[in-house]
Formats: sequence, structure tokens, C-alpha cells
Amino acid sequence: MKIQLKQLFDIVGERKEIDYKIPLDELDGYKAVSFKTPVSINGEVENRAGIVTLKIHVSFVLNHVCDRCLKNFEREYHYDFEHTIVRSSQKEDDEHIVCENMVLDLNELAISDLLLQLPSKILCKEDCKGLCFVCGQNLNEASCECSKS
Ligand SMILES: [Zn+2]
Ligand SMILES: [Zn+2]
Repeated sequence: MKIQLKQLFDIVGERKEIDYKIPLDELDGYKAVSFKTPVSINGEVENRAGIVTLKIHVSFVLNHVCDRCLKNFEREYHYDFEHTIVRSSQKEDDEHIVCENMVLDLNELAISDLLLQLPSKILCKEDCKGLCFVCGQNLNEASCECSKS
């Protein structure tokens, strides 16, 4: 979704609601993660006293493979993001998005935001016991004899 920002920059008090889903086929390109559902984006972009702020709530479900026991599972995520959008000059950082051409690519922004938030280590549960190094048994499901000798 592209948001036209011209009106938002021009009119103090202008506000635009966002209620949108990034379809799965547009999420295919992100190989680091596997989306099970579209990414829902709700929020608003508002010009308050001349400052344009974007606030969004992002929710989605990912397919995961546990880093420890290799089990497939899915997990739901919810994140909130807030950015101040500026037209030019000021330095770009996490909070400030420079948008010179007055068009904001919300998909790109939301996806890069959420990728940064995802944990680097993915476990099916916090205390996942993993696999036995000797026999490969999933130790969450059953114990084995290997460590008992
Ligand atoms: Zn696990
Ligand atoms: Zn074993």
C-alpha cells in the first residue's frame, strides 16, 4: 500500500486511517521468514501541529522451525510502531522516515519494522529440551536411554 502524503503535509489536523492487509503473495520475497497469514496493519497517519506521525499496529502469523528440536510450529505476533515522517534534510534513523516524493511505501516500512523485531533465536517453547545428540529423540516428547548410562 502506498500512502499519498501531500495532503497530510499540507493540512494541519489532517488524518488518514489505515486498515489494510499485505497479501501473502507480496510476502513471498522475504526468504528469512515464512508468513502463514497476510500481515494486518491498523493505525493512522496524522498531521498534528505540522508534524506528521505514523502509528501502526501490525499482526501476523509465522511458520517456524524450532532452532532446538526442529519441530514445525506457528506463532502469532503483534507489534506497535511509530514513526515521524519528514520531507527532507533531517537525518534518517529508526524514528524518522524521510519521504521526499510524498509517497510512503507502507508495505516496505511495516515489513522492515517487523523483521527487526523478530527474535534471532526461535524456540517452540522457552524450555524446549531439544533433541538427544546421540539418538535424535525429541526430548520434549519422550526421554531416551542415552544419558542414563
Ligand atoms: Zn523445540
Ligand atoms: Zn538419546
